Amino acid sequence: MNYEGLIIRATGGFYYVKCGSSVYECRARGIFRKDGISPLVGDLVKISLETELGMVDEILPRKNALVRPPLANLDRLVIISSAVEPPPDTFAIDKLIAIAEYNAIEPIIVFSKVDLSEMDMLTQLYKAAGFKTAAISSTTGEGIKEVAAMISHPGVSAFTGNSGVGKSSLLNKILPLCLEVGVVSKKLGRGRHTTRTVELFEISGTGGECFVADTPGFSSLDILRAQFISKDQLQFAFREFAPFLDSCKYTGCAHVKETGCAVLEAVKSGEIASSRHASYCTLYDEVKDVKDWQLK
Ligand code: GDP
Ligand code: ZN
Repeated sequence: MNYEGLIIRATGGFYYVKCGSSVYECRARGIFRKDGISPLVGDLVKISLETELGMVDEILPRKNALVRPPLANLDRLVIISSAVEPPPDTFAIDKLIAIAEYNAIEPIIVFSKVDLSEMDMLTQLYKAAGFKTAAISSTTGEGIKEVAAMISHPGVSAFTGNSGVGKSSLLNKILPLCLEVGVVSKKLGRGRHTTRTVELFEISGTGGECFVADTPGFSSLDILRAQFISKDQLQFAFREFAPFLDSCKYTGCAHVKETGCAVLEAVKSGEIASSRHASYCTLYDEVKDVKDWQLK
């Protein structure tokens, strides 16, 4: 029998594939190893079931794939920064946003611990730049419902942030609001795994299947280190630059310090936040010498 399904868990060479309301334990065909590609959590796959143990026969085309955490077809990345400890780092936020945009993942910008310090400035900055944002406190409950609503749409959402930003506290508050399956709710809200296994949990939502990726042991640093952006695409990874990109004086403008650059004009007039542009310039410097063949 052949089915199509979603890999919701991968561990020790076994893949757990959700097809409708059933989950099948599968092995992967040796061919994948030969081709240097292995199935990832989040992959849509074709499986065949001859015995109790299924076989992953084919990986359907991916929309995107992260290396660390190993996760395919991500729809949303919730980027969490703390208002206080550890303090927000706009460069790290902007680089994570750029990585998300480059991979066609919708970034959602969340500031946590706003009971300790208000975060209106940065929240407004990212809202004005065109992002979904939220200021939350797991202590007072502020903003939790908003984040739950943002992820209750068809597709896969993952949370990222440095250790200590309040990622687990937030997840533990959000998930009861949108969890559908009792068995699952017991599994989440647990302490840290020691092994880095990635798993998708189904949550309730409207219009289709919704999942949250649990990525214990991974932090934003893993994403920041493992993903690359091509120099030519970087400008498109800053969405608020878009209205200005065609108005620069020179074609091929790098938008760093060129004369007649419409992006620089927009920074000067306040239409683009200077911290966003500063992050762009730092990133441009990072990627400008990276050759296309070095990109995965
Ligand atoms: P994680 O490492 O990102 O998963 O962070 P945790 O959820 O473990 O939280 C780290 C620390 O911050 C813990 O001591 C939490 O109690 C605290 N914390 C988390 N969220 C909040 C919040 O909204 N307000 C305050 N005041 N403290 C928080
Ligand atoms: Zn320019």
